[in-house]
Amino acid sequence: MIKITGLSKSFGELEVLKDISLDVEKGKVIVVIGPSGSGKTTMLRCLNLLETPSGGTIAISNKSIDFSQRVSKKEVTEFRKLTGMVFQGYNLFPHKTALQNVMEGPVIVKKEDKEKARKKAEQLLAKVGLADKLDFYPYQLSGGQQQRVGIARALAMEPEVMLFDEPTSALDPELVGEVLKVMKDLAREGMTMIVVTHEMKFAREVADEVLFMDGGYIVEKATPEEFFSNPKEDRTKRFLQLLQ
Ligand code: ATP
Repeated sequence: MIKITGLSKSFGELEVLKDISLDVEKGKVIVVIGPSGSGKTTMLRCLNLLETPSGGTIAISNKSIDFSQRVSKKEVTEFRKLTGMVFQGYNLFPHKTALQNVMEGPVIVKKEDKEKARKKAEQLLAKVGLADKLDFYPYQLSGGQQQRVGIARALAMEPEVMLFDEPTSALDPELVGEVLKVMKDLAREGMTMIVVTHEMKFAREVADEVLFMDGGYIVEKATPEEFFSNPKEDRTKRFLQLLQ
């Protein structure tokens, strides 16, 4: 489903991702954890092509891009449609309603018929528990509600994979649960997901595999049971000790 091979990313002299390789099967949930600056966000942004990788290949479904060669804008646009991204800071259009935010991608990028896009947006907003908030602007919504609009907006593009970058980090504690519930439902429905999060309970309950990153490398990858009870690498052990 997803096959990342030898992915690297540098910002000038700074090598942020160094030879990342990862296979993710369809319908699996991968939770990515690791210290600040380890490259978690950059990896997601590379998968979504918000950053252009410096080298390596990414394959999703039957499409692949090789970053050792020049990549055209058209390829980037097409490839980006395969992934939906949910950001820590929601990134909604402030001057558009919840419904308009969710319709925007399908209408503008996919050139979908407006009525069809509206119906789908209504269904998706109902799915994330916001059927009664269609015409609300972001400033009229709580952080948890805004993030659920963010999830509906990403789903509206019908991606093969959903990427979540610390989706609950900006939320007040009492609002975290409602966002995690939507994510759990998606996982249960068989969505392939890569989730960067500090929510260890979510990782234990929902992840098929936990991936620990440090210094631009994947240091360890294991099932949650194995990862939390019997980590193999010293760096993982030290990180987990800090969480206790
Ligand atoms: P956090 O948990 O704090 O979000 P992270 O593991 O997601 O951290 P990244 O945000 O991927 O880490 O950042 C990895 C490194 O890359 C950091 O040293 C960061 O300063 C650097 N970096 C990220 N984006 C850029 C950029 N656009 N230009 C230059 N350096 C960058």
